[in-house]
Amino acid sequence: MKLTYKAELLFFKRPFRTAHGVRSSTPIVLTQIEYEGATGYGEACMPPYLDESHKTVLSFLNKAAELFSGYNNPLQIETILQNIDNIAPNNTAAKASVDIALHDLAGKLQNKPCWQLFNCDKNNTPYTSFTLGIDEPEMIKEKVADGENFKILKVKLNGENDKTIISTIRSITNKPIIVDINQGWKDRNHALEMIEWLNDRNVLFIEQPLPKDSLDDAAWLFERSPLPIFADESIQRYSDIERIKGCFHGINIKLMKCTGMHEAFKMIAKARELDMQLLIGCMSETSCAASAAAQLAPLFDFADLDGPLLIKNDLFNGIRFENGKISLSELPGIGVIPKS
Ligand code: MG
Repeated sequence: MKLTYKAELLFFKRPFRTAHGVRSSTPIVLTQIEYEGATGYGEACMPPYLDESHKTVLSFLNKAAELFSGYNNPLQIETILQNIDNIAPNNTAAKASVDIALHDLAGKLQNKPCWQLFNCDKNNTPYTSFTLGIDEPEMIKEKVADGENFKILKVKLNGENDKTIISTIRSITNKPIIVDINQGWKDRNHALEMIEWLNDRNVLFIEQPLPKDSLDDAAWLFERSPLPIFADESIQRYSDIERIKGCFHGINIKLMKCTGMHEAFKMIAKARELDMQLLIGCMSETSCAASAAAQLAPLFDFADLDGPLLIKNDLFNGIRFENGKISLSELPGIGVIPKS
């Protein structure tokens, strides 16, 4: 088997404001695994807070490519991914790019979509939310209009102008909202006050209200919050789930955080065992990684997979939405075709 890779940049349709500043582009790396004439596609995308860059991903994949030249059975997914995981700690996006390409290849070799390999009911997909980044009221209104075909909005807040942003949205639509604070509230009493205010405003749940390591405060809030609270930055991999038990009602699983589809599937089972709700999320990524995530979407309560809609230069055709509902195809693997 042969693993190859190349660095790319994605450009946002609109400037993207985060806690790390305004971004107009984001680095990604595309991977391919070839075996007997079939090609599996994968992708790594690197949000600033995970500390991965083109350089770290390419250096990791260089080591992974050496291992791949010695493999000759792509269906030994468990063993291969264990070896890849052992190359180095962290590097979760780089690992996810290998995992996604390997699942795509395995699906193609068996002529089956990945949702079928994971025993998912393709009709049971959730609606995706449509993301509204932090912005001025006029721009927020334009973004709400961009998402007119979507039934759920995801609103980013950061502790400044939170009520103005929510009131602006509520002046034009009553669609259900997911509120993502991205660790932006620093004080638990303030967080509880805000959640009580949001509770009257058709909000489904609150994502990562407090800093990721403030688990005592998260547990305090968990006991008192009238709305469910989901962990995003507080959880990355399978081994983190036990640690956040009793602190959150649900978790946001993203392939780039958890090393890919194989580990995400294990996390789903573990979270259900602990009675947690599940959101499948994504980074600023192409339809490649988002389509891989979509294959597992029927196992989730909520989805936030609109990443490819927010970029100008999607490099694949793949994930589709029908009035905001994720629509899975019969294409083998992760269901993507590179744009030429
Ligand atoms: Mg989030």
